[in-house]
Amino acid sequence: MKIAVGAMSHETNTFAMGTTSLETFDTAVGSDLLTTDRVGRSIGGIVETLDDAGVEILPTVGASALPAPTVETEAYEWMKREFLDALDGESVDGVCLDLHGSMFVADEPDPEGNLLAAIRNTVGPNTMITAALDMHATVTERMVEHLDGVAGYRTAPHTDVVETGVRAATLLLDALNGDTDLALGWEPFPMLLAGERSESEAEPMCTLVGLLEDADGREGVYDANYFLGFPWADSPHAGCHALVTGAAGAQVVVEEVATDLAEEFWRRRDEFDFTTEAYDPGTALDEAAETDARPVVVADTGDIPGAGAGENTTNLLAAMLARDDLGTPLVAVVADVECYEACREAGRGEDVRLSLGRLYPSGEPLETTGTPVAFREEEGAQTVLVSLDGVDVIVADRRTNVHRDPEFVRRLGVDPATRAVIALKSGYLSPAWKEAAARRLFALTPGETNQQLADLPYERVPRPTYPLDEDATWQR
Ligand SMILES: [Zn+2]
Repeated sequence: MKIAVGAMSHETNTFAMGTTSLETFDTAVGSDLLTTDRVGRSIGGIVETLDDAGVEILPTVGASALPAPTVETEAYEWMKREFLDALDGESVDGVCLDLHGSMFVADEPDPEGNLLAAIRNTVGPNTMITAALDMHATVTERMVEHLDGVAGYRTAPHTDVVETGVRAATLLLDALNGDTDLALGWEPFPMLLAGERSESEAEPMCTLVGLLEDADGREGVYDANYFLGFPWADSPHAGCHALVTGAAGAQVVVEEVATDLAEEFWRRRDEFDFTTEAYDPGTALDEAAETDARPVVVADTGDIPGAGAGENTTNLLAAMLARDDLGTPLVAVVADVECYEACREAGRGEDVRLSLGRLYPSGEPLETTGTPVAFREEEGAQTVLVSLDGVDVIVADRRTNVHRDPEFVRRLGVDPATRAVIALKSGYLSPAWKEAAARRLFALTPGETNQQLADLPYERVPRPTYPLDEDATWQR
């Protein structure tokens, strides 16, 4: 048995400035795909499962990047060509892919659907294709048309990415070994939902994820999923979805389960509140100043690099500089290559003038003076801890998500436990930061990942959509 594998992973923020080129992606072609962990999060679970089953694996291509602005057409076309070239002339029994599911290309709002259609055209109508998708995938009609089976993350923060790859590969292997066809049941519904309101340990998401596990137990159902889409993309395909994989012989049940899951989610639509105490920025800092819990970690939720924002707004930092009741707070991270270079040239302990980041929405930099304290390379990014007037800030030479791990700030010489207030360019915190934080707050800052979705300038999202249209109705 021979199965082709590949990965294409991007969550595109269409509100973010600029475009994303191929150079931004980590890529791997051919056998390199099997040995790297940088081109997808579920591909490792897929490969391991197929390996264990003694299957011959045909590696194609992998490409993954931190969430970022709209992807350039040339970048996507390169990925697609690599997929098709690798499959050309090959006879495979199945295809198993690791896709995020929310990529947006300059002239193609549905690249995953476009890719799957092209792969389908190459491997033929009878070769099964399964995929692992992120919980924040935007599912499209074309994706459903060309996919036979789907597994999605059931945790947010995402801690089951490898297991999801195992599930996608198992769906394919079981179908091939059992000689049964797969069926999909798909029920989209008109709703936008931020991850900051739908962590899987918070209600109502916790109960809804439990329903997926119950659904898996139904006769003929193999893998039931919710996909929540990605609200910081102005996509004509935006929305939430129930998507269920089962046996072809149980198509009616599979569709029924998808409808039931969608209806239950929709019924609870107004229960999705912020999973962390959320305030306007000024009130969040007041709360941070007054609490006894130390450290309090404040998420700068309008500028989340993990959701594609520029990681360079200084609105919250400016507000922190204007106060003296936060101890010596730490801000991680502001991406600004010129400021990083200025710090490097000045050297440790030397004062340096900085025009840092940008105030949103004016774009004006924050004019300040700082003293570089410590330098460090982390995951390919050059970073420096800079002491400003009363606030320490970590500046990086590029966008990076390294602050997800509190060990990173420890390696720069800052023990989080010794700071009263730490501000992170984050939405919901990583499990490690939840552990380190005595109290967590959301500062609802303006920016490219604005949490007040109704304030975003959507033009392509179908209307009515909840909560942009509070009175939106939907009935199957
Ligand atoms: Zn996600």
